[in-house]
Formats: sequence, C-alpha cells, structure tokens
Amino acid sequence: MDKLSILVLGVAGGAAHVYEGHCSSSFIILKNDEPFCLVDLGLGVTRSLKRYGYQIPDKIIITHNHTDHAGELPVVLRVEEAQGKQLCIYSAKPVSERLRKHRIAEHLDLYCSSELAQWVSPLPEEEIQLSDNLSIAFYVGQHSECCFGFVIYQQKDLTESVPLIGYTADSGLYPELYSKITQCKYSIYDAREFGNRWHASLEEVNPFLDNDSYIIGHGIEKVNSLNHSALLFPGQLINIER
Ligand SMILES: [Zn+2]
Repeated sequence: MDKLSILVLGVAGGAAHVYEGHCSSSFIILKNDEPFCLVDLGLGVTRSLKRYGYQIPDKIIITHNHTDHAGELPVVLRVEEAQGKQLCIYSAKPVSERLRKHRIAEHLDLYCSSELAQWVSPLPEEEIQLSDNLSIAFYVGQHSECCFGFVIYQQKDLTESVPLIGYTADSGLYPELYSKITQCKYSIYDAREFGNRWHASLEEVNPFLDNDSYIIGHGIEKVNSLNHSALLFPGQLINIER
C-alpha cells in the first residue's frame, strides 16, 4: 500500500502573508514522499512548497475563494498551462463556479476557464474518485464566503470506504460539518484563540479533539503564545497510518 503523509505548508491568514510574509493555511498530501494533492493555494503557498523541494502537484483541492485559500490560483494555472500542464482543481460545485467566474477573471478575456484547468466539481456530499483507492466528498461549513470542508475516504473494496482525512476548512463550529470530520482517522480543524461566527475558537474545538486531531488557521504569531499540542506548525509532517 502507498505511504501517505501530510506536510503542513502554512497556518496563517491573508493579512499575515501580505504584511509579514507568512504562508497561508495549506497542506500537501504526499504519496510515497511525492506531491499527490495540494490543499488550498493561498498567498505564499507556491514558495513554501518550493522551499521544501516540491513542485505543484497535478491535483489541487480548493475549499473556498478567499485570497488566503485561492489567491495564487490565477498565476499558477497560467504558468503551468504555459508549460503544457493542465492542473485538476477539485472543489465543491458552488465554490468551483465562484473560482471560474471571479478568481480567474483576469484571464477570461483570453482564455475560457476549461483551457486553464480541469475543474472537478462534485455536488455537495457527492463522493468522487481522487485516485485508484481514495475518494473525496465536500461538506458545507459556516463561513463568511461559501466554503466547503472535505473528507478523503480510503476505499476498502467496491462497497466500503473508510473516512481517513478530514478538514473543516474555514468554518465556525458547525455541527453538520463537524459530524463528518470527527469520523475521520485524521481530523484538521480551523480554529483560533478567539473565535467568531466564521472561525471556531480553540475552546469550541477542544471537545472534538482526539489523538490524531489537529488545528490550523491559528496564525504563526500565536504558535508560541498558545500552549496547545494540537496546533500545527509549518514544516510539520504527519504520517498517515492505514
Ligand atoms: Zn476564509
């Protein structure tokens, strides 16, 4: 069986990149130590990926159209396309529509969106194939912009799949989404020290955490001040046991 791992690229928001240069919240799933699937492409992600010696993988999951989750998409799609590589962008249908219409608007005088990428846009909660033995389904969260978390399922056989990796993406505490993410063997929650309607607080997320649960989105400045073992940090590698 392939070895899977998660490499954390960034844990910050857009302002922390623009004003201080920290990488936006993002991680990459590695298969046999090679890039398999990138999760979100906000500001700073491409450079962070290169710093670890990796290229942009063919598969990119985009959770929503905020700059700190999709800001580098227009440039990356155009550069990769010019090199003859068409990336595959996985996002829930409502998010995909926003990305194609708004995020890459700067290209639309010259290109139609399907020339720049292959857009894989399942309906909410529809499970689709990600690789030969992994599938993915998107679940809506509670955020200021239309945003979907997801679950990556390990397919045991034709009829059974097991929730392996879950990510809330940007979301307040939202029971419907959390019920999906808590089922996963590895769960990643968006949370920060002081939450609000659009981002859960550490206190709210705490009851949902187990051994293989993690927190992202808390911002790099907070890493030293918040004493919480679940907080992810850039460069952290999580080996996925299956
Ligand atoms: Zn957001």
